[in-house]
Amino acid sequence: MKNSKSVIVCGGGIVGLCTAYYLAREGCTVTIVERHAEGHDHCAIGSSGYVSPSHVIPLAAPGMVWKGLKWMLNSRSPFYIQPRLDTELMRWGWHFWRASTHRRVARAAPILRDLCLHSQGLFEELNDVTGDKSEYRRDGLLNLCRTQQGLDDEANGLARIANELGVEARVLDATQTAALGLGVKLDIAGSVYFPIDAHLTPARFTTALTALLKEMGVRFQWSTTIYGWRNVGRRIAAAQTTAGDLIADEFVLSGGSWSSGMIAGLGLRMPMQAGKGYSLTLPNPRFRITKPFILKERRVAVTPMGDTLRFGGTMEIAGHQDRVRPERVEQIIAGALAYLPELTPADFAGVKPWFGYRPVSPDGLPYVGRFARYANLTAACGHAMLGVTLAPGAGRLVAEVICERKPSVDLTLLNPDRYS
Ligand SMILES: Cc1cc2nc3c(=O)[nH]c(=O)nc-3n(C[C@H](O)[C@H](O)[C@H](O)COP(=O)(O)OP(=O)(O)OC[C@H]3O[C@@H](n4cnc5c(N)ncnc54)[C@H](O)[C@@H]3O)c2cc1C
Repeated sequence: MKNSKSVIVCGGGIVGLCTAYYLAREGCTVTIVERHAEGHDHCAIGSSGYVSPSHVIPLAAPGMVWKGLKWMLNSRSPFYIQPRLDTELMRWGWHFWRASTHRRVARAAPILRDLCLHSQGLFEELNDVTGDKSEYRRDGLLNLCRTQQGLDDEANGLARIANELGVEARVLDATQTAALGLGVKLDIAGSVYFPIDAHLTPARFTTALTALLKEMGVRFQWSTTIYGWRNVGRRIAAAQTTAGDLIADEFVLSGGSWSSGMIAGLGLRMPMQAGKGYSLTLPNPRFRITKPFILKERRVAVTPMGDTLRFGGTMEIAGHQDRVRPERVEQIIAGALAYLPELTPADFAGVKPWFGYRPVSPDGLPYVGRFARYANLTAACGHAMLGVTLAPGAGRLVAEVICERKPSVDLTLLNPDRYS
């Protein structure tokens, strides 16, 4: 039976767009409220575009706390936390520390796998619906390791866990990696290859999806900022916005790394940090790379996107600071030069760095589901490094929650109240 609810989706990034799609398909009357104008930049736009079920280990994993503490003092490190006196950051760090155990990772990994596989299936359906405009390709993904130590760690860590969870991971030496014909010379000890992974050009995907949503009757309220809420008891009556109060039956929180700030006035606690990342896109690369890969020790992701080639990476927990830190961009370039001997600094000349803020929860699991305190407010945020991969899945799950159907994936660990 078709649903007749009106729903306001608060935030028009990739998660908000996908959520609007599944709600509209259910028959809901959907409005997306987005503070920026149409065609705006958002976190998926400059991302690496991976749709990657191989990412079964959350950021909060054993060893990361010590690495993080060591890297904290070095703004050139792949994972940089800017030391600052901020109670939100301290609370987030405390929960991150508590989540970084073998037991918690063993609990989170199967959920991440289920979410990723569910979402990848939906991506493939959506790709058909949008007429293959997003350049979605299931070409696999390689984690390239420059040293034997790095390869052994990867084989005994991620590859072992992925295989145990049924996500195929093949450990390859340098010759076997070269035999895959990646289209570029590599200076590596070997790699771990995940054949199931896919990639796409995110801007093409969100543009095609926006056009589809308009055809489906979804309303866009561009250039409108949500700054508060009007509630009546346990229900949200309206979102207070720069365009006046907007009323609906249901509200979805999809404000990315701004989500926890958006609900601060409601007395809800949902720890979140903005994990800034950068990317550099070469418009006319000198070589055609055939499969995406991650430069493991440097944590740089390389993705062929149509005729272009993108290098993305770094995680900088320093709040929303809209400025480029040159040393972090230099680290991406230095990492790329170390693995790809044919590449030169001149390849990056004139390329403008892009940056975006990943919405990072402390335990590496997103927040998806209803808040206990408000009967008509549902979270769809906190997807961190997996927001592209998980966007269709999150959207579908939110639509199932709002339309009171059994969610396709167990939402217990994704409860947005888990830190309340
Ligand atoms: C360098 C980099 C590489 C990445 N690579 C990958 C990858 O390969 N694969 C992958 O799966 N993920 C990747 N990610 C992560 C992924 O891009 C994000 O997790 C995802 O895009 C987050 O989407 P979102 O819709 O939740 O948030 P956002 O894109 O941040 O969207 C939130 C929207 O809400 C709006 N908003 C905020 N506050 C308000 C308000 N008060 N009123 C109205 N609107 C508001 C914002 O303007 C924004 O448009 C990468 C990220 C980075 C930075």
